[in-house]
Amino acid sequence: MAARTPIVGGNWKMHLDRAGARDLLRELRAELDGVEGVEVVICPPAPWLGDAADALDGTSLHVGAQNAYWLPHGAYTGEVGAAMLIGTARYVLVGHSERRHVFGETNEDTGRKLSAVLELGLLPILAVGELQAEREAGTTREVLREQVDAALSDVDRLPEGFVIAYEPVWAIGTGLTATPEIAQSTIADVRAMVADRFGEATAESCRIQYGGSVNADNVGDLAAQPDIDGALVGGASLDASAFATICRAVAGAGGAS
Ligand code: PEP
Repeated sequence: MAARTPIVGGNWKMHLDRAGARDLLRELRAELDGVEGVEVVICPPAPWLGDAADALDGTSLHVGAQNAYWLPHGAYTGEVGAAMLIGTARYVLVGHSERRHVFGETNEDTGRKLSAVLELGLLPILAVGELQAEREAGTTREVLREQVDAALSDVDRLPEGFVIAYEPVWAIGTGLTATPEIAQSTIADVRAMVADRFGEATAESCRIQYGGSVNADNVGDLAAQPDIDGALVGGASLDASAFATICRAVAGAGGAS
């Protein structure tokens, strides 16, 4: 079985003005272009996607969008259609917990977005994760299964190397990282859900990142887990040197089998 290439995403969220974004892009390019053993995706705020595409053109780094609407055009003030990202972004984050819990996006919305992104030939990063109360109530597996099933309900087959980000909501931006054991066992559960729906071979090729307060100090133990195929990084992705350390640590963890 071919090894999965791990993938690290940097989610800048709604941070940085244009000058700051351009500086960070320049630093990331200098730190990470040509890095081997890990795929790197930079997800700036929508207004800086064009700058990111220009700055990273010809490098090994990919541009990702943080969100996209499923319809191609129309009277949808403030939205960015997934089709508008073609030529600029390669990856699109779908179902990030801030979209779900701050902006009220439903599992069905996530499914529509994911299908649109795939149909356009872009690559989704499907984010799933449970609330603290759901983990405490012991319903994590049910919550994740509902999120995974709804997101993939209209999908017949997953592309090789499809990316899911397991991000416990209680760990995002809180400094509370899941232990490597919790992250590993939950990600193994998510992989089993993909296997139930699409078969073992697809599940084995699926890359499942961990996200939630990942930093240069804790990434090594997380990336060493057999089912963890990289990280989705928020806060620490705004510092080029910390983010580069994370990417190199993931590459050095040797990838999964
Ligand atoms: C995220 O934005 O997906 C995230 C995991 O943020 P942080 O690393 O800041 O917890």
